[in-house]
Amino acid sequence: MTAPNDTLGRPLKDLRISVLDRCNLRCTYCMPEESLNGRGVFLPPHHLLSDGEIEFLARVFATLGVHKLRLTGGEPLLRPGFNELVGRLSPIPGLTDLALTTNAVLLPRNAIALKTAGLTRITVSMDSLDDKVFRDMAGGRGSVQEVLDGIAAAETAGFEQLKINTVVQRDVNDHTIMDLISHFRNTGHTVRLIEFMDVGNVNHWDRNLVVPSAELLKSIHDQWPLRPVASQAASETARRYEFVDGAGEIGFISSITEPFCGDCTRARITANGVFYSCLFSAHGTELRDKIRAGMSAEEMAAEIMGLWSKRGDRYSELRNRLPRRQPHVEMYRMGG
Ligand code: SAM
Ligand code: SF4
Ligand code: SF4
Repeated sequence: MTAPNDTLGRPLKDLRISVLDRCNLRCTYCMPEESLNGRGVFLPPHHLLSDGEIEFLARVFATLGVHKLRLTGGEPLLRPGFNELVGRLSPIPGLTDLALTTNAVLLPRNAIALKTAGLTRITVSMDSLDDKVFRDMAGGRGSVQEVLDGIAAAETAGFEQLKINTVVQRDVNDHTIMDLISHFRNTGHTVRLIEFMDVGNVNHWDRNLVVPSAELLKSIHDQWPLRPVASQAASETARRYEFVDGAGEIGFISSITEPFCGDCTRARITANGVFYSCLFSAHGTELRDKIRAGMSAEEMAAEIMGLWSKRGDRYSELRNRLPRRQPHVEMYRMGG
């Protein structure tokens, strides 16, 4: 059984599940410290999907044609028993790619267990190799060395080709991007430069802080000539380039200047079990309480097919035509 295409003809192919909304960093573009303001903004434990509920949903999505599942957050590695959860998800029939997005701080103590549990890929977020810039962007928490240690642990555990996600902001970390790229050339890892997005409501998004990918591409190409690489799948978020000298690849995620909604095949589920069909949705559909009320896998599959068949999201393509910034769910809740 495969889910029907949405109203714009897009199939359901990928699922991202946020396993926890808490984080050990406070990145200014995602979860700025002052926005939390000492209030209990995080979900209490009983609101989180349990391991069994996450497995139930993953199995249902796999029966509907989803092959790729990414676990995200918040910081997934803070979730108690996360490695065991991975072990429950990796054998699900149909899931061929089980990926994690992490800030890497806790990878040294988890990487081997994650490999053993069947995780197939890791994306590490790292915005600069300059410790001051890094800490300013991470809200004064973590350090470059901790992330590098996390990357080294992933390599040792056998995760050979990491993706390194870097959010670029003008006059914040753009002057450190060439160093970062230089560091990861010839390592087998792929840096992906992400345009600062207007997700959530608290990250003080300002178009003047966005560095268009075209500008970065030109600077990088001037230093290390690049040529485009054909995407492996239409739904790939990054535009890929390879270094002509054979030093590896680089990617650009250009949600602001070159939106890719036409190829967007991703569904998202928050840590408390709300389904969203777009990163920028203001409203989602509650699934957790339906599971707790005893909904069967067949009924859940029908529910999800119904939601997907009505999907018409293309926020990034419409952004410039919308009158003002729209309300969105925070990135750390929705899962990046
Ligand atoms: N904590 C994990 C991490 O940072 O890798 C996983 C969750 S984080 C929300 C997922 C991704 O979203 C990260 O790569 C982060 O850089 C990205 N992200 C968060 N806020 C963003 C924003 N405003 N614009 C662009 N990317 C953003
Ligand atoms: Fe935490 Fe990731 Fe958000 Fe940074 S981007 S605050 S590491 S969830
Ligand atoms: Fe997909 Fe929404 Fe992003 Fe467009 S704006 S690519 S529909 S998540």
